[in-house]
Amino acid sequence: MAKLLKGAPVAARLTEETAAHAAALRARGIVPTLCLIRVGERADDLSYERGLLKRAASAGVDVRKVVLDAVCSQAELMSAIASANADPAVHGILMFRPLPASLDEAAACEAVAPEKDVDCLTQASLAGVFAGSGEGYAPCTADAVMHLLAEAGVPLEGARVTVVGRSLVIGRPVAMMLQAANATVTMCHSKTRDLARCCREADVLVVACGRARMVGADCVRPGQVVVDVGINWDESAGRLVGDVDFDAVEPVVDAITPVPGGVGSLTTAVLMKHVVQAAERVAARTKGGIA
Ligand code: NAP
Repeated sequence: MAKLLKGAPVAARLTEETAAHAAALRARGIVPTLCLIRVGERADDLSYERGLLKRAASAGVDVRKVVLDAVCSQAELMSAIASANADPAVHGILMFRPLPASLDEAAACEAVAPEKDVDCLTQASLAGVFAGSGEGYAPCTADAVMHLLAEAGVPLEGARVTVVGRSLVIGRPVAMMLQAANATVTMCHSKTRDLARCCREADVLVVACGRARMVGADCVRPGQVVVDVGINWDESAGRLVGDVDFDAVEPVVDAITPVPGGVGSLTTAVLMKHVVQAAERVAARTKGGIA
């Protein structure tokens, strides 16, 4: 039986650490604050928002909600972003995506002030992740994968890691972060030949392809650690499933993340850590530590 790499205990520890940093800031009169921008009432967004608000409360982070109508104009959205950018009490900005198709999502993402971009919406943040410069913040999900692996004590230096999926939200940034941790990374995508072989060759397999249960027993071997980033609603089973076929893969590998309860349980904890780091950076830049 594989070891289960659950997200909740890692999230709890990370939140405790973040709360200690937040308390230190509050003692100096700085309240770490996230501005959440939501357009419309998508069920996925509302569900994520509920988890986020609970996590923020435990982490000592205040949240300001800006909710726009699903049929709002681009100008209204840009004005909401500009207000959050200009507000010195706001340290981080999170905008739920995808936005309604009527809005220019790329323009909205780019409008976020880079120093408040706690979930890597901007090209500047992505450049920081790709260059390994330490500027900006990685996408919370990609960072959550790295936290999970670190907490589980999975050695990355010199390890062969295969990442399935090359989106800018998960696959590509996590591949760069794994490389920065000295892993030897193979990136796979929809045009990869013999995906199963590429997956089996890895010591660590990170799957983010958005295809329910796509990675099966033919893709794994004993000794591997499997991180399943996928979240898919399985209509017939009436529950969430990952991009990995858990029932087929779990008996083979050494360790695997469950879905739900793996990477997804960690993203809000990582987000709060980024908000508090953003507040700390402001405090460090401000004489006397008052933002
Ligand atoms: P995405 O933008 O749709 O990207 C999917 C990637 O998978 C693409 O690079 C695609 O290749 C690749 N792919 C698709 N079919 C493939 C196949 N048959 N073989 C190999 N590669 C294939 O998805 P995403 O936004 O990165 O999300 C990936 C998964 O993570 C989804 O299940 C999503 O729900 C989940 N997710 C989880 C969290 C969390 O907090 N845990 C957060 C966000 C997303 P091409 O580039 O060639 O098209």
